[in-house]
Amino acid sequence: MSRQAKAVVCREWGQPLHVETITVDPPKRGEVTIKVAACGVCHSDHSAATGKIPYAPPLVLGHEAAGIVVEVGEGVTTLKEGDYVVSTFITMCGKCRNCVRGRPVLCENARKSMTTLPDGTVRTHGKDGEDLNVFGACGVMAEYATLHVDNCVQIDGDVPMSSAALVGCAVITGVGSVFNTAELEPGSRAAVFGIGGVGLNAIQGCVTAGAEMVIAVDTNASKLEMAKEFGATHTVNISEVEDVSKAIKKLSGGGVDYAFECVGNGKVVEQAFKSLGRAGTVVVVGVADSKDKTSITTLALPADERTIKGSWLGSARPQYDFPRILNLYKANRLKLDELVTQTYRIDQAQQAFDDMLAGKNARGVIIFE
Ligand SMILES: [Zn+2]
Ligand SMILES: [Zn+2]
Repeated sequence: MSRQAKAVVCREWGQPLHVETITVDPPKRGEVTIKVAACGVCHSDHSAATGKIPYAPPLVLGHEAAGIVVEVGEGVTTLKEGDYVVSTFITMCGKCRNCVRGRPVLCENARKSMTTLPDGTVRTHGKDGEDLNVFGACGVMAEYATLHVDNCVQIDGDVPMSSAALVGCAVITGVGSVFNTAELEPGSRAAVFGIGGVGLNAIQGCVTAGAEMVIAVDTNASKLEMAKEFGATHTVNISEVEDVSKAIKKLSGGGVDYAFECVGNGKVVEQAFKSLGRAGTVVVVGVADSKDKTSITTLALPADERTIKGSWLGSARPQYDFPRILNLYKANRLKLDELVTQTYRIDQAQQAFDDMLAGKNARGVIIFE
């Protein structure tokens, strides 16, 4: 059946967000409708709403949600009504070269349908019946959403939905950059640049993977305090030191094995590179502006065997990684509840974005009844 749902919709880039009632079509073949319980508010939603990520409006925001399946389409065998799921904006076709070699975040077919369901159409309509695009094949900042089954990862229902929601973006991006991209070895020394929702998760990923030293780097003292709660062993406040790389080299006895750049800025990548010891690796996690450049000393690559790697969404394999992260949470090896700084009702969506932009939240989460 069709459902009416309150949803956060970008009608025009850079304009205030609308909370409007939309119509959500029932699932077609291979799809499910979920009743959303919680949806995280992510910088990428803001980037889409301002056109920095050029997703065409009208666009239903949201890609980081947890909810319960209320209807399944024809041919769906892996999910049933009442199952709990986390959304994933990684659509994996399972057939292209990158999917087949275990890199679904790089699926070649998914990038063709970033604002629709995988078949190129949408199940979301405005009050005049017009099609509404959806963020990353999700559009889950809404009371209901119809998704392809491959954009849902089944989870156990015994975790708070506000915490589970964050696994789909902030948590996997940070934790995955450590587990999957860096493959950090126990006993490593690490530094994390930029302590937002992703940076905090990179820190706790390092701790869980067995790093002996995790240095948090930021300009904001309160964020550095939060970093300690997530396991950072040391902090460097950039605004208090003359040369951040020198400070890190001193702390780590010659440079770190891994530096995670969670800002998305070429200058910070350079600082991270200079903070490495021999055989060290910079993992660039932050999403920079498309014109941003970075500059490094070329000789340091061979002479010190340094590496620069990129990590897109923590090199995730959602169907494997999301349950793995939730199991670590249940075993008290990862913190999720502590990431939820503030919850909002959907009518307070604009406030949630304003608070995020003011740097008030590790993560704000919209809670649905
Ligand atoms: Zn996100
Ligand atoms: Zn593919």
